Amino acid sequence: MADVENENEESLTCGVCRKVGQFTAPVSVILVFAPGMAKPYPLIPAEDYRVCSACDAIFTLVNRAVEAHPTTRAAGPWTRAIVVFSDGHGVDVKAKRQGQQVALA
Ligand SMILES: [Zn+2]
Repeated sequence: MADVENENEESLTCGVCRKVGQFTAPVSVILVFAPGMAKPYPLIPAEDYRVCSACDAIFTLVNRAVEAHPTTRAAGPWTRAIVVFSDGHGVDVKAKRQGQQVALA
């Protein structure tokens, strides 16, 4: 029996785009901006969340975090979120709006 190390962090596979090794550091806090709140609301994940940086996975993360919390859920659709990772890196995410697609004639 080989004593295999359980350090597979670099080989996480994205469930959306299936890319490997494109994951961020764990999320420390998500600051949520919504019209219904006077100040951005900080959401702190209970577990380590890493997101794929190669696709739109971060939008799913913010959507899930906002819907999981009564305060942000009651504030209505989020417009912006700042996701800060445990390595100090941050990402400013603007909400995608439905209905802004350009119609092709
Ligand atoms: Zn991905």
